[in-house]
Amino acid sequence: MELNIKVSAPYKVVFSKNCLRTGGIAELLSEYGCRRIAIITDDNVRDLYLDSLKDSLKCTFEVCAFSINPGENNKTLSSVEKIYDFLAESGITRTDLIIALGGGIVGDTAGFTAATYLRGVRLVQIPTTLLAMVDSSIGGKTGINLTAGKNLAGSFYQPSKVIIDTSFLNSLPFTEWQNGIGEIIKYGAIMDKRLFDIMERGDYKEKLEEVIFRCLKIKKKVVEADTLDTGIRQILNFGHTLGHAVEKHSHFYVPHGKAVGIGMTLISRWASKRCLARAEVAERIERTLKRYDMPTDYPLDIEQLWQHASNDKKRRGESITLAIAEDIGKCVLQSASVATFNTEELSARVFPSHLKGRIAAPPSKSMAHRAIFCAMLAEQKSVITNIDLSEDILASLEVAKALGCQTNYKNRALTVLPNKKACENVTDCGESGTTFRFLLPVLAAIGNSVIIQGRGRLGERPYSELTAELMKHGACFNRQSGLPLEVSGHLLSGEYIIRGDISSQYVSGLLLALPLIEGDSRILLSCDLQSASYVDMTISCMKAFGVKVDKLKDGFAIKGGQKYTGRNYKVEGDFSNSAFFLCAGALKGDIEVTGLQRDSLQGDSKIIDILKSAGADITEIKNGFQVKKSVLRGIEVDVADIPDLAPVLALTLAYAEGKSVLKNTQRLKIKESDRQQAIIDTLKALGGEAKIEGNDIIIEGKPLLGGGASGKQDHRIVMSIVSTAIFETTVSGAQSVRKSYPEYFLDFKNLGGEYVIDLGK
Ligand code: NAD
Ligand code: ZN
Repeated sequence: MELNIKVSAPYKVVFSKNCLRTGGIAELLSEYGCRRIAIITDDNVRDLYLDSLKDSLKCTFEVCAFSINPGENNKTLSSVEKIYDFLAESGITRTDLIIALGGGIVGDTAGFTAATYLRGVRLVQIPTTLLAMVDSSIGGKTGINLTAGKNLAGSFYQPSKVIIDTSFLNSLPFTEWQNGIGEIIKYGAIMDKRLFDIMERGDYKEKLEEVIFRCLKIKKKVVEADTLDTGIRQILNFGHTLGHAVEKHSHFYVPHGKAVGIGMTLISRWASKRCLARAEVAERIERTLKRYDMPTDYPLDIEQLWQHASNDKKRRGESITLAIAEDIGKCVLQSASVATFNTEELSARVFPSHLKGRIAAPPSKSMAHRAIFCAMLAEQKSVITNIDLSEDILASLEVAKALGCQTNYKNRALTVLPNKKACENVTDCGESGTTFRFLLPVLAAIGNSVIIQGRGRLGERPYSELTAELMKHGACFNRQSGLPLEVSGHLLSGEYIIRGDISSQYVSGLLLALPLIEGDSRILLSCDLQSASYVDMTISCMKAFGVKVDKLKDGFAIKGGQKYTGRNYKVEGDFSNSAFFLCAGALKGDIEVTGLQRDSLQGDSKIIDILKSAGADITEIKNGFQVKKSVLRGIEVDVADIPDLAPVLALTLAYAEGKSVLKNTQRLKIKESDRQQAIIDTLKALGGEAKIEGNDIIIEGKPLLGGGASGKQDHRIVMSIVSTAIFETTVSGAQSVRKSYPEYFLDFKNLGGEYVIDLGK
């Protein structure tokens, strides 16, 4: 096995087996035709390997050797000076050869000496640590530390050859293995999924040569593209900005590899919160590091470490380039300044692009909420698969924990293990209306006294009709509107009369709760049920968990004393979030969305027929739909039952020929933003024409020319703008996609969508 590093003076990395024992090393060096060889090593490596190396060379060469004290504080000018003197005394000339035998410290120090002695003597690296084998021995960076900081003096000086022999590692202490492992995980995370998988599984020692080879291939690729470290080579710094801060702050108590591990975890968590990386990246890195007993956290939080990392830069007001693994095996560079590092406020600039490709529908948030509630009300363990942790789902998860469940999330699967005895008396629903409205009757049915907190507009969203009805049946609440809300009392069975036109979640919440209490109940609707499909989804999910509901002409009958049974449950693909890509496909692409079922109970599955009626070229394929760029015509759509589709439909229909009408938009006012007004504002901001007439929104067919628009802190408004933008468009408040679809931007990018995320605008 060997690699050619094609830089200005190309060189080979050769893999050799037991080179000291077989004497093959002299042969590997014969091509240089030199007489003398000076071996530079450190005292530890000297004691282990120097004699054998000398023995294997002495028939062919005159060999001399010099050893420095081990350790970072000997990577100094004073060591270099001693080596200079030794080389001079030994009569080493420019036609001779220097071997660096050791870890990165020897490699860097001997490398710098070779680069400068007589203005350059040939250098061969024989790395003896894992870190040196995968990283420091190739690439040509040499250098020493100054009192002012690490690696401050140095040069780029490429070796003439690198000889990798893994048998040196037999004597390596475990902590030094860990340092190498930190870098290997880094390589996997930034550019090599398979390498990462090997490290994640933990069987890397059986594949050690392959692992090292893979690392070196990455380093080769990056070094060849950017020998002098001014551009793409910076991706090798993944985890290093914060890692260096950890090293420095701990006075090098935390060694480099472990510090890089902490840095990778922290920066990946940071990036995932800013829509720059998939949540899975931090999670998998963390899990893999733990497998090798490596830390993933540090007593300082990321902001404090960032301050340490950027102290000098702050003075200069500079921004810093961060390497971010947006997916396992895929790295990008992102700039951030000290001023904006802490911000969670993002803006996205979207550029014109054609979208093409296949995407798996994001999991249905509505189904995931229902499954979590059913799982937490069961007595046995459940495993919910195909679930993403959006903020709303995290809110339901928080509630499950408050109700005593142990939860574990791994590989997009959530395990819920209920324990009704371990309940807490405060819980937080975040901004999730679904969680909140499901929880009210459920708490009352269980009979726990709990204070419910929430954020954003959650307290302003209606719930009093539901609590009023619950109070008639034994529940108590300390207020009629706003938050925090204290729930107590114990719900009794009976006849519940509820309006069907404010929120279908009232009905779903009651349906989830009433089977838990003694005695049979009925839910009677005092007016027609809106968004009825959501209630069907609740009933279907309950059925999967073993609880039955009978439909009546004007409501539902629920037998009391039923038990939820824990199970494995797969969450189906989501039509409301897929709609962003289905509409984008109709406007500017050729997109397949998989994981969608034609016979889904989701009301938003109507998006297919709606797009068809507007003239979109959309066809059913195996397990999903394909949609191609089409000429659209204006249509009339009643959105009473599909309010979540309204924003993306409005923006899509702006490009249609002729007028479109979205009918019955009144309920849009009580969503995360006043979405009725938000749609009008957005269309106008982007050059469209729209107005509200009665309960309808009228949209004139007139292509949106881009520009800037507010995302209204509303995930669906942001995703609608980005998905439908044909011309360059900037949208503020882009972080709100986290509410329902945290990886929206990364999925958009996978389809060819071009954008940049700016921090803090
Ligand atoms: P190191 O050179 O200090 O080696 C670690 C320890 O292991 C030392 O005590 C050493 O004596 C001992 N040792 C080495 N080989 C051994 C073996 N086979 N068996 C038993 N003990 C052995 O540390 P390192 O982690 O190899 O290198 C760290 C240095 O590398 C840092 O100074 C860092 O800045 C530098 N580095 C340079 C580059 C680059 O591109 N030039 C890249 C990464 C790191
Ligand atoms: Zn490193």
